[in-house]
Amino acid sequence: ELYTKIKKQTCPSCKAKTKRVHSYRKQLIQGPNLSNTSVKIALRKRRYLCTHCHHTFYEHLQMVDRYQRCTNSLQMSARTYSAIGSFTDAARLSGMTTNRLIRLVDRHPLQTKKVLPRAIAIDEFKGDAGGERFQTIVADVENKEIIDILPDRKVDIIKEYLQSRDTCKVQIVVMDLSKSFKQAVQKALGNPFIIADRFH
Ligand SMILES: [Zn+2]
Repeated sequence: ELYTKIKKQTCPSCKAKTKRVHSYRKQLIQGPNLSNTSVKIALRKRRYLCTHCHHTFYEHLQMVDRYQRCTNSLQMSARTYSAIGSFTDAARLSGMTTNRLIRLVDRHPLQTKKVLPRAIAIDEFKGDAGGERFQTIVADVENKEIIDILPDRKVDIIKEYLQSRDTCKVQIVVMDLSKSFKQAVQKALGNPFIIADRFH
């Protein structure tokens, strides 16, 4: 069973200080796994009352976020496990259901580098979006899929984009032979096989 000491709070509504307890609510939270047994924490959440504006609010807890039913540290280890193994294994290791883990990962996607395919095509098109006349499209040539749309056609934007991706698989780049594209591609990818798009 877990609860905190009563501490002076700042009312989120009017910013006045208060220590007046309004009520308690018991909530079952899943804690870390200890010796392969999941630990349940009975959290005694305290609600404070602002004596100035009569607003009531829950205390802020570091170990568990609002609306969550497991501790932040458990979420963190579950996400780490899922980065190296299957969701099923990661869920078992962290003592939660696979569905719950998938929902968790959907909410906090891992920042992994997107891997670009073997053959990509880069082209500009007149999209008139976000105050720029031209945008850049990056496509997967062999699977005929759009990979990304970049906000403009500037060398730096294209270069930064390519550098932010995992390009170790890229061997072929299809593009027009405008200086800016070629420059960006060579700066970011070294010397891939460049195919000039025949429409240019
Ligand atoms: Zn208040």
